[in-house]
Amino acid sequence: MSAGLRMLTRSRSRSPRTRPRGGGEEPASIPRREVAAEGRKKHRPGKCQQKTQRLHVAYEALDGEKDEGAEPLKVSTWEPQRWQQQLANIRTMRSKKDAPVDQLGAEHCYDPSAPPKVRRYQVLLSLMLSSQTKDQVTAGAMQRLRARGLTVDSILQTDDSTLGELIYPVGFWRSKVKFIKQTSAILQQHYDGDIPASVAELVALPGVGPKMAHLAMAVAWGTISGIAVDTHVHRIANRLRWTQRPTKSPEATRAALEEWLPRELWSEINGLLVGFGQQTCLPVHPRCQACLNQALCPTAQGL
Ligand code: SF4
Repeated sequence: MSAGLRMLTRSRSRSPRTRPRGGGEEPASIPRREVAAEGRKKHRPGKCQQKTQRLHVAYEALDGEKDEGAEPLKVSTWEPQRWQQQLANIRTMRSKKDAPVDQLGAEHCYDPSAPPKVRRYQVLLSLMLSSQTKDQVTAGAMQRLRARGLTVDSILQTDDSTLGELIYPVGFWRSKVKFIKQTSAILQQHYDGDIPASVAELVALPGVGPKMAHLAMAVAWGTISGIAVDTHVHRIANRLRWTQRPTKSPEATRAALEEWLPRELWSEINGLLVGFGQQTCLPVHPRCQACLNQALCPTAQGL
């Protein structure tokens, strides 16, 4: 691309909402419902076969240049069969919002009365605690930490064995003590006690993976940077064949989903599928008999 040209749009809107780093004293926001409602309004019609689209890429000419020679890109797109029906069924099954993630997820674990920086830190900490851990156990650990005043400084002043006692029995609690201490020290030294506002900087922190980073961006900064894929989303996406080919890791699933899932749905999909995985599409012995997708699910019969 010419240095004088800037790409403006490409296919469906893929560019993340941008936010200045350290974006001011805003509350940790939870935009899922709003974005989800918006997403439901904007569903595309149900074309379910593989197809090739000729997409126009709009460029803005800078410094008086004209965008001569800007060729439309030929991009192959794919989307799963009947995904809209499957998604609508999952929304129906999840309409009561009574799964553990609905009451105890990261957006419910921070102190809403704390200063914004502290709220964002608490969001990140709850996400770090949550990996390989049930929501109830994470919420309990967060309650104990918050009872002592949960800030970067308070964590750095807590000795490792006390911190271990406070977060036990979260999964891998010994490693998490180490990661929480290291990450808190970095936040204090480099981010003035706040958390970074980009996925790249978040995943560079010890003990912070891509799923946590995308959720932190959404919950703490109100920015949808990507689909947060955990073990539930990974499993269900593969069972429903929402990936063009079987995927072996949550990161591969994230990339595969982001290829076709409309961006307006990115923020909704994590909570929706996590709760569905907690209540119906269980890791072992999924409740296919009670699932509205039984007739639409390629793997229902084989389980
Ligand atoms: S039919 Fe069974 S495997 Fe398929 S989505 Fe429903 S619960 Fe999961």
